[in-house]
Amino acid sequence: MAGIGTSGLILEEGLIFEKGSSGRVGYSLPPLDVPQKGIDTLIPPSLQRMDLEGLPEVSEVEVVRHFVRLSQWNYSIASGPYPLGSCTMKYNPRVNERVARLPGFSQIHPLQPEELSQGALFLMYELERYLAEISGLDRVTLQPAAGAQGELTGMMMIRAYHTAQGNPRRIVLVPDSAHGTNPSSSALSGYQVQALPSNDRGLIDPAQVRKLMNDKVAAIMITNPNTLGLFEEEICRICEIVHSHGGLVYGDGANLNAILGITRPGDMGFDVLHLNLHKTFSTPHGGGGPGAGPVAVRAILAPFLPIPVVNKEGDRLRLNYDLPRSIGKVRAFHANFAVLVRAYAYILSLGAAGLKRIGQMATLNANYLRRQVESSFHIPFNRLCKHEFVATDERQQDKGVKTLDIAKRLMDKGFHPPTIYFPLIVPGALMIEPTESESKESLDQFISALKEIAEEAERDPSQVTSAPHLTKVSRLDEVRAAREPILRWKG
Ligand SMILES: *Cc1c(COP(=O)(O)O)cnc(C)c1O
Repeated sequence: MAGIGTSGLILEEGLIFEKGSSGRVGYSLPPLDVPQKGIDTLIPPSLQRMDLEGLPEVSEVEVVRHFVRLSQWNYSIASGPYPLGSCTMKYNPRVNERVARLPGFSQIHPLQPEELSQGALFLMYELERYLAEISGLDRVTLQPAAGAQGELTGMMMIRAYHTAQGNPRRIVLVPDSAHGTNPSSSALSGYQVQALPSNDRGLIDPAQVRKLMNDKVAAIMITNPNTLGLFEEEICRICEIVHSHGGLVYGDGANLNAILGITRPGDMGFDVLHLNLHKTFSTPHGGGGPGAGPVAVRAILAPFLPIPVVNKEGDRLRLNYDLPRSIGKVRAFHANFAVLVRAYAYILSLGAAGLKRIGQMATLNANYLRRQVESSFHIPFNRLCKHEFVATDERQQDKGVKTLDIAKRLMDKGFHPPTIYFPLIVPGALMIEPTESESKESLDQFISALKEIAEEAERDPSQVTSAPHLTKVSRLDEVRAAREPILRWKG
């Protein structure tokens, strides 16, 4: 089978400032044959800068080639698999991009009056219902801009709820396998974080929860499936224990694709759940945003939802700001609306059966991969997983090959590396999430690459420890890049 690799016609490219020559222009149009308006009538002289020396003067083809060449140095989901654990870098259907760009959606202004934005409000109203149904909860806010902000919003609602009961409480329990945003969101909401150790099966032990649970604990934050890709088998009992002490259960639903259409967090006992539309519901997020982190809640938390909420009165939709116990606004206007449009289109185009197939395929792909590489890599919790699994460098270590080396060598073979050194409870973790959108053939290519690397580590470890060899640049000084970034070109 042909590898996908990165060698070949990837062209060298300098800075655009180093190109072109004086007087060269980036367009070719016939001479102006209408009276020319002076620049001064278009831009007042006080706003014109006369001293702009050293701007690139380049032709159209130079500009096009420059940016196309740079784009070819990038890896993206449009070039190949992106098995970055916990990130759900799946391929998102282009039809949802088309829908989000329809002028009726893309040209709408957030200050447009309600009478002129009924379609947008309808979409928000319906999307809220769909996400509530998917989560097994009652109400949803679409406002938060990302998962972490969804967590903060959820924790603020939990705090408002406890405060309304007479005592905000002090502590939030967070398992040691949690995403780093979980303890951060708890702390930002004024809570003390108490770590909950995982047991030797990588799961939360209900006995531990019982021991730590009391009336000072406001909530527990749980990711299910957890960051090891394992389903919390005792989830219902854990929720019961927390509820019996008056606490609430927060669910981190960033990676909902594992259970989509198969089971619902609300049915397990969760009271609050954020979803990452940019992971599960068709907004690409390799470039860092924008995203959306809607939060679903049980009815007891509905009075605390951010304002405004979309209400339906007869066949009219209205924005309701009259929620006296609301935590307020967490984001300007109506959130990242285009992300909501993509999610809505995605859910409608797939339907219930299609959504369920996401859960099935995400799980099948991860388990196929796990079983195919278990002979080459140590997998600490090697049993049925959900959307991802965690391998380690334990078997390669005696040859001096570490997780970072394996990740770098994968780049030579044409793959984006998986998430590494997370979750923190697994030393040398390689966290692999193939996602539901990869075919068996593409999984097989990735498996071959991983197996080749395991063999190289045995036979010729220096090939791995000095990787990558075929990329534009090899090992970067990441500390220096972060501490002394050079952000400005000087001629
Ligand atoms: C990605 C992720 C988050 C954070 O989401 P952002 O949108 O990046 O803020 C939180 N929890 C888990 C488990 C995640 O995978």
